[in-house]
Amino acid sequence: MDHFVYKDGVLHAEDVPLARIADALGTPFYCYSTATLVRHYRVFAEGFDGLDSLICYSIKANSNLAVIGTLAALGAGADVVSGGEIRRALAGGVPAHKIVFSGVGKTRDEMAMALDAGIMQFNIESEPELAALSAVASGRGATAQIAVRINPDIDAATHDKIATGRKDNKFGIPWPRAREVYRAAAASPGIEVVGLAMHIGSQLLDLAPFEAAFTLAARAVAELRGDGHDIRRLDLGGGLGVTYGQDTPPPPADYAVMVRRCVGDLGCQLIFEPGRVLAANAGILVCRVIYVKETGHKTFLVVDAAMNDLLRPALYEAGHEIIPLKEPAAAAPRAPVDIVGPICETGDILALARPMPPVVADDLLAVRTAGAYGSVMASTYNSRLLVPEVLVKDGEFSVVRARQTFEELLGSESLPAWLAGKSAA
Ligand SMILES: *Cc1c(COP(=O)(O)O)cnc(C)c1O
Repeated sequence: MDHFVYKDGVLHAEDVPLARIADALGTPFYCYSTATLVRHYRVFAEGFDGLDSLICYSIKANSNLAVIGTLAALGAGADVVSGGEIRRALAGGVPAHKIVFSGVGKTRDEMAMALDAGIMQFNIESEPELAALSAVASGRGATAQIAVRINPDIDAATHDKIATGRKDNKFGIPWPRAREVYRAAAASPGIEVVGLAMHIGSQLLDLAPFEAAFTLAARAVAELRGDGHDIRRLDLGGGLGVTYGQDTPPPPADYAVMVRRCVGDLGCQLIFEPGRVLAANAGILVCRVIYVKETGHKTFLVVDAAMNDLLRPALYEAGHEIIPLKEPAAAAPRAPVDIVGPICETGDILALARPMPPVVADDLLAVRTAGAYGSVMASTYNSRLLVPEVLVKDGEFSVVRARQTFEELLGSESLPAWLAGKSAA
């Protein structure tokens, strides 16, 4: 459920008509809803009432400071995958002791920064990473609390580009090899083994792969304790899917029941790293139709948002729902159109053969479920400026990232001395 609904025939974000934001800022822009973020967080958290648990929002899904801040105010921690994300998490108000650091390529500089900040836990993804962290931590007289990320070799049945828990993916360490890594960790200076971590993929629409992975996790925790490790935290990652078009993801409550059944009685603090399920439906991308282009063969809606603003359709063939800001009549005819951006790439598509009500140039459209892996993946390809982000709360809206300017876009570039001051004859 989200708070982007038609009221009196016009699409609102909570109590704000989206056309009003478009008038103030121009298009395109991302708009996020506080009430939706809060609701998603609460629904997810409620499933674990009474358990020792911590929700570490995976901030790569949407790392706008206002989004992080909204979730941090509810008690969320953060799952981060870079030093930059640690800075964002802290700037957004997440306390260091609620930050989990994941990722296969943590550099020594990032490790040092994370240790100095005092983060909760490093999720280790390889032996050389463990050795590096041991060297960095002991060199600073610090102790890094770690979990080892297990690769359970489970097919999450999701898009290939976001499956992470198969043995041919770069993530985690296969069980039982991970057992050896734990042995090495226990003997490493500057390292304290505290937990076990997993994250098998994103946009999962079925609980079965989670259940298989968490069952393996429970067995691994028991074996590791038998080996003498004090496994007191279990990080189950993120990955719960959302509805883009026809998908039917499991409700968070069902996920929670399954989690309790698999790992609820291990006596571990449970850590979750949801990203998409919190942020996706809390955001939309608003754009304007520039032209309606009829080729005789097809109708194209050429809009002012493109693959540089929202990469998901091009990268994952994602089928985001797209609706007009002005509510179409229920009886309006629907005809298939391709909704495309201005970028000079055939792949610059927001939707293919999408049945749409009649739309004319200058109409405003909302691309739904764009709050996760939307603005964070944007680029300036074709020298298009990064678009603004707006956060709505009740009847108010705030621009939480301004539209980039051409001064910013060009300001960090320069001509080398041998070209400066010359112009073509
Ligand atoms: C991306 C990622 C997540 C979040 O995944 P969602 O599908 O957005 O819930 C969680 N943990 C790790 C380690 C990740 O890389």
